[in-house]
Amino acid sequence: MLQGKRLALFDMDGVLYNSMPYHAIAWKKSMEAYGIDMTEQEAYMYEGMRGVETIKIVAGRQWKRDIPDEEAQQMYRKKSEEYAKFPTASLIEGVKEFQQFLVEMGLKVGIVTGSGQMSLINRILHDFEGLVSPDIIVTANDVSHGKPLPDPYIKGMEKGGFSPEETIVIENAPLGVQAGKAAGCFVIAVNTGPLSDEILKDSGADIVCSDMTQARNALLSQHNY
Ligand code: CA
Repeated sequence: MLQGKRLALFDMDGVLYNSMPYHAIAWKKSMEAYGIDMTEQEAYMYEGMRGVETIKIVAGRQWKRDIPDEEAQQMYRKKSEEYAKFPTASLIEGVKEFQQFLVEMGLKVGIVTGSGQMSLINRILHDFEGLVSPDIIVTANDVSHGKPLPDPYIKGMEKGGFSPEETIVIENAPLGVQAGKAAGCFVIAVNTGPLSDEILKDSGADIVCSDMTQARNALLSQHNY
């Protein structure tokens, strides 16, 4: 499967960092403050979507009205404040080794995230120095339409100058997998969260793995045939 591949685009939350458990709690608590019911499980279902879009869905459902951009942005700031109370998220086990393997196989590594949190994005450049190409990082600020639409991954390929045929996407969330497939890429889902593998398969993932080592081995074994 690595034949002809030149770019690997990694999602951030739940793929680079074990940050999703914190995000899930921050979502639940911040929405609770507005009287909105949102479960942690839902945070995983909407993972990858731009924060304001998620708010428009859950608040719109609760209040039975459209939520204007400005109101949603205000509420998203509350969510970001809750998230900021948590300690720094640890790296996902084996992710640097997986990137090192891809770099050695001649691929460039980029990041495509629905997050706009500058603290984590600056950290990427520090934590993955020499692995991630600094010019191939796409954040919520680079696109107006987020995952599950293909725009973020298309933007990542544009920044690197590669085609969908040359690109592998590494995702952990259903909407992220859908975005990668809609962009025409080969998508590896690494299931680092509480959702079932079936949900990731149903979203269109080409391979579903349980960790980064398995993802690397899956690519390696397919490469040899
Ligand atoms: Ca993710």
